[in-house]
Amino acid sequence: MARINLEKIKHSYSSAAEGVQEYALKEINAVWKDGGSYALLGPSGCGKTTLLNIISGLLAPSEGKILFDDKDVTHMSTSDRNIAQVFQFPVVYDTMTVFDNLAFPLRNRGFSEAEILPRVNEIAKMLELEDSLKKRAARLTADGKQKISLGRGLVRKDVSAIMFDEPLTVIDPHLKWKLRSKLKELHQRLGITMIYVTHDQTEALTFAEQVVVMHDGLVVQTGTPVELFEHPKHTFVGHFIGSPGMNILPAENVNGEIGFAGNSIKIASVKAPKNIEGKLEIGVRPEFIRFDNDNDPNSIPVEITKVSDLGRFRIVEVKHEKQLIKLISPEQDIIPSESPRIIFDADKTRLYADSWVVN
Ligand code: ATP
Repeated sequence: MARINLEKIKHSYSSAAEGVQEYALKEINAVWKDGGSYALLGPSGCGKTTLLNIISGLLAPSEGKILFDDKDVTHMSTSDRNIAQVFQFPVVYDTMTVFDNLAFPLRNRGFSEAEILPRVNEIAKMLELEDSLKKRAARLTADGKQKISLGRGLVRKDVSAIMFDEPLTVIDPHLKWKLRSKLKELHQRLGITMIYVTHDQTEALTFAEQVVVMHDGLVVQTGTPVELFEHPKHTFVGHFIGSPGMNILPAENVNGEIGFAGNSIKIASVKAPKNIEGKLEIGVRPEFIRFDNDNDPNSIPVEITKVSDLGRFRIVEVKHEKQLIKLISPEQDIIPSESPRIIFDADKTRLYADSWVVN
């Protein structure tokens, strides 16, 4: 197992990279602790696979260094880095039994059969494959085959890290949840550094201790699921995490008072905003907006345009002037039928300048 340091990693697929837009990775700096579980989360094209391939050694970065503990591995091969990988689609030998598939990475490294037997049995038990060990892999369903792939990634104790690249893509939706929880449990039991790439926030948030949010070739925030929800450092994180995501509203700074469409907005985390420059935006999650029942002077008049009832809560879409705002209204709250007004929770409302949070 290893601590992974990424130092000023940049990557361009074109050799004559001119200007920052040419870079698939613009500059990544990170320290991922030994034994931690990390998810690289971001939309298609943000650079997740490029970063994963650089860490595993399938790709050499155009600039920067990768250290495993204090050893520079930037130009080492995947096998010398001692990385196990699990890909989107199962990598199994159909003609071999499940047991032999799981034993393969150990036999390849010269482990004795006496060492292999208990380890394969242990991993098979964790993945609930113990009844299939004697079957040929070809006889398993796609889910079963992907479990074998997971098992082959997990079976070696001596790896620096295990990398998962969207490993649940081919898994049936109802089994996804089960396997995700299983992976989390396996991480806790085995304590191996795990890096999991996905564009699915539920997968990232349920699996990882630390979620690394990527956007346009950059890591915009690394944090626990709660940190990403409550303190998004970048508007992209606010919008991408959450369902629905954070409302991002145009803001103005009038002599140190933050306003939205002429309404004064209280933001507890920003004390003296006189000198703030750049494009200003207010971020507030739908969970932290409510209808005003007390004629609060800071409330904003709105028009209700849509109510979606999801059982325990409703997602209400309202408009102030032309701006659409979403709020989550708990089942027991009354949605006003006349002259509705909304109010933002000042403690949970954030100010952003050029997309980055102002503290
Ligand atoms: P996805 O989830 O779709 O796999 P991703 O977040 O993993 O996306 P990457 O595959 O790392 O993103 O791609 C990052 C950028 O680099 C994209 O603009 C992509 O088009 C570009 N890219 C990726 N691979 C290559 C390649 N082999 N040659 C040229 N450009 C590439």
